[in-house]
Amino acid sequence: MTTTQIASLSGETKDVDAELLNEFASGLDGSLVYPQDEDFAAATLIWNGMIKKKPAIAVRAGSTQDVVRTVNFVRDNGLEMSIKGGGHNIAGLALSDGGVTLDLSTMKDVDVDVLAALATAGPGCTLGDIDKATQEYGLATTLGFVSETGAAGLTLGGGFGYMTREHGWTVDDLEEVEIVTADGSVRRASRTENEDLFWALRGGGGNFGVVTQFVYRLHVLGPEITAGLIAWPASDAEGVLEMYRQVTESAPRELTIAVLMRNAPPAPWLPESAHGTPIIAFVVCHSGSEEQAAIDLAPVKAYGEPLADIVQIREYAQQQAILDAVQPKGMYYYWKSEFLPGLSDDILATYRAQFEGNTSPANQMILFHLEGALNGHPEDDGAVGNRDARWACVISAMWPEGSAEGDAYRDWVRTAWQAMKPHSTGGNYINFQTEDEGDERTAESYRENHARLAAVKATYDPDNLFRVNRNIRPA
Ligand SMILES: Cc1cc2nc3c(=O)[nH]c(=O)nc-3n(C[C@H](O)[C@H](O)[C@H](O)COP(=O)(O)OP(=O)(O)OC[C@H]3O[C@@H](n4cnc5c(N)ncnc54)[C@H](O)[C@@H]3O)c2cc1C
Repeated sequence: MTTTQIASLSGETKDVDAELLNEFASGLDGSLVYPQDEDFAAATLIWNGMIKKKPAIAVRAGSTQDVVRTVNFVRDNGLEMSIKGGGHNIAGLALSDGGVTLDLSTMKDVDVDVLAALATAGPGCTLGDIDKATQEYGLATTLGFVSETGAAGLTLGGGFGYMTREHGWTVDDLEEVEIVTADGSVRRASRTENEDLFWALRGGGGNFGVVTQFVYRLHVLGPEITAGLIAWPASDAEGVLEMYRQVTESAPRELTIAVLMRNAPPAPWLPESAHGTPIIAFVVCHSGSEEQAAIDLAPVKAYGEPLADIVQIREYAQQQAILDAVQPKGMYYYWKSEFLPGLSDDILATYRAQFEGNTSPANQMILFHLEGALNGHPEDDGAVGNRDARWACVISAMWPEGSAEGDAYRDWVRTAWQAMKPHSTGGNYINFQTEDEGDERTAESYRENHARLAAVKATYDPDNLFRVNRNIRPA
């Protein structure tokens, strides 16, 4: 009889009978695919080309019932399974090496309830899918900076973006979920139902089950806002960063500016003469009125001699995609990150000095401004914690497969990170952790919420079925 070798929960590989797999597949609304099938590449496609895991099979789920069927199947047969939303996790957590990939990427329904200001989204939605549906009504929820990112993984790790200063972490906008837990039951969780599970899902990642529906609170936004990019030569960085600190110190929560240093990409908005030269740039989003934005952004617009300035009236959905082109799928990526409590002289000087060691055309150092709504919640309002984070610092490298410079770029990230780390709040973002970051970084990320997460894990997944993630071991 034909068998397929699949990684098991015991660490061994299991021979699974074709008959058993066929019977499992016959009850699916979606499909079971093997490496030789046409759909397999799409089912297991992830963003970071550096990850070389090779799943044995993939289930392309078409419904919540498919998720139930798959959870029961892998549990009863002791197989290792990963959960794939948008496939954007840098550590490749969407794939199990030799195991089963539960691919949710085709479950993309978004239902907008305008009167209740709620959006119900399927687990395969990208940020762009949700924004597109909600922006039709001039509404939006708090999502991240790159529209192709999966909303499921982003949300379950906490989530931040342009609206974070006003509304907090993405999970502060999460109202309810539908989830399939390890015993195969379909549950609802919210602040009033299965509260312990809901608390854990607000930051605890894919440790507690497969979320099949996310319900987000919506806010009035746009569709047109003042937003875009502005860049100066990196030789102006000292003055630009001082101006950045002053503007962000007094900025209303409607204004979010991320600052980044990198070598200029060959982007049409930048003059050709600047391409490849070091720059400092702002990614700007102002959700208030045009008049207010003009007042709040006046010091930015008036500063020095920018190489280019495309901060203007534009659609919010367009702003959400403005960075997509510089993060293409399939390149090799390596990141390190920390949350920062503020922007001291020392932090800004370290940031500038570390950038000087960069030799790559695509490496960058970014500071995301988060300060505002999220700081007003207690540390234990959701597993996400990190209520003292005011900036997120991300140091990232990107290179094509086979590049001889890859190791040097990765070393640059590590060196710059070591220099920034002493300035950290002590916390870091779980969703930015790379493959080489271990349990101690997970613990640093959750800090005092870690023990409570382990207790919820023991209730809902005592055998650690959901383990291909930043794993929380059952208490
Ligand atoms: C280019 C880029 C830009 C980014 N920008 C931001 C940003 O602005 N803000 C921000 O907060 N983050 C950002 N991130 C980080 C992002 O939040 C994480 O990469 C996140 O894991 C992506 O989610 P995904 O669904 O695409 O992940 P996947 O790789 O599909 O999944 C990652 C893990 O999430 C869990 N998971 C996914 N779906 C489910 C589900 N339905 N049920 C249970 N568990 C599930 C699983 O453990 C899975 O292994 C960015 C990432 C990239 C690559």
